[in-house]
Amino acid sequence: MKEIIGKQIHDGVLFGEVFVYDHRKQFLTGLQGTGALIVAAEDLTPNETVQFEKLNVCAFVATNATETSHVAILARTMDLPAITGISIEQNWHGKEAIIDGCGGRLIIDPDEPTRRFYRSKAAEESRNRERLLEEYKEKKAISKRGRTMNIYANISAPDDVAKVLANGADGIGVFKSEFMYLNSSDYPTEEKLFSVYRQIAATMGERKAVIRTFDIGADKTTDYFQLDREENPALGYRAIRIGIDRPAVFKTQLRAIIRASAFGNVSLMYPMVTSVDEVILVKKMVCEVMDELRQANIPFKKDIEQGIMIETPASVIISDMLAQVVDFFSIGTNDLIQYMLAVDRQNPKLSNLYDPHHPAVLRSIEHVAKNAKAAGIWVEISGELGADLTLTQQFMEYGIDSLAVAPSKVPLIRKAICEME
Ligand code: PEP
Ligand code: MG
Repeated sequence: MKEIIGKQIHDGVLFGEVFVYDHRKQFLTGLQGTGALIVAAEDLTPNETVQFEKLNVCAFVATNATETSHVAILARTMDLPAITGISIEQNWHGKEAIIDGCGGRLIIDPDEPTRRFYRSKAAEESRNRERLLEEYKEKKAISKRGRTMNIYANISAPDDVAKVLANGADGIGVFKSEFMYLNSSDYPTEEKLFSVYRQIAATMGERKAVIRTFDIGADKTTDYFQLDREENPALGYRAIRIGIDRPAVFKTQLRAIIRASAFGNVSLMYPMVTSVDEVILVKKMVCEVMDELRQANIPFKKDIEQGIMIETPASVIISDMLAQVVDFFSIGTNDLIQYMLAVDRQNPKLSNLYDPHHPAVLRSIEHVAKNAKAAGIWVEISGELGADLTLTQQFMEYGIDSLAVAPSKVPLIRKAICEME
């Protein structure tokens, strides 16, 4: 037996078989048809993580993942135990193991007493979760003084909607639509996108479903977009920058989202905004799409809400101006922290500098919330910081209207707010 201690990414205890994955070697060899798999890899790209989800992977162990790297976010969304900061050994491949997400532990070849201990820990965690869910699934998050917070869930795949419903979220805070593009070998057609968006809208009914237009670029790339290699991709050709530059691709997605608005409570949201002009340009494209739909007698919601991610320092500073041209803000703290502090969110060597509680970050959130309130628009926090219980009270005081978190965290945040003054 060997016990290795790393860092928690997402909780949960799982018994499984280790699959040591090296993306320089052949992809996913020998993975199909096996039981509970714990994938162990140095790091995983968003594309790889999504592929693993389809292959019945039950847990992740990564050497280099950070709190806000996409593998961490996806593991939380999928509700799979995950840990990081562990040097992986090739000879673990195929061995029985236990992962304890909460304790940040991996145990290879566990002996019988250890198995017994973790079996009872797993049973206890699962009982606690069920109890929490039972109590808070249908409840609104209202503090003792009567302040309400909407608790939304973030998703990256259409199938995640089941987790949104199972956890009783008030809506979808961000549907990260780029993962559908990453999961495809060519540009998805308007019909394909529309059928997925319509299904989400219809399933959510009156509950909000915020669809973020594709945030392709940086580490979320795919061959058919034919993006050039860049020196600084996080600062590069990505998100609405691509959308504005490639109107045919962007308008296909806009048409699909706007058409889906006839079937539920859909909102449109744009990532990586840095100026009012960008928003005006995108909204002009939306008007053009709406004109085309009108001419073709295709139904849609004329006043579909349009919001933006606040995740760049520029957008924080001009949030008073941006609030005049949009219906809501979604504060993307994962990127905001990286850009505000000039610290790469993917680099584990800089984890000590990636400080979500840095006054520059908290003041930014306060400033944005103040400008949103002054303009009468709603504001959510959609980065991982939204689930930080040590800040929930503060977010309430700033006037944040909604927290958008991983689906499995919804009951926990509700409980915290219900117990708050
Ligand atoms: C964010 O940046 O906080 C966010 C919600 O989006 P992503 O993590 O996909 O960049
Ligand atoms: Mg972001």
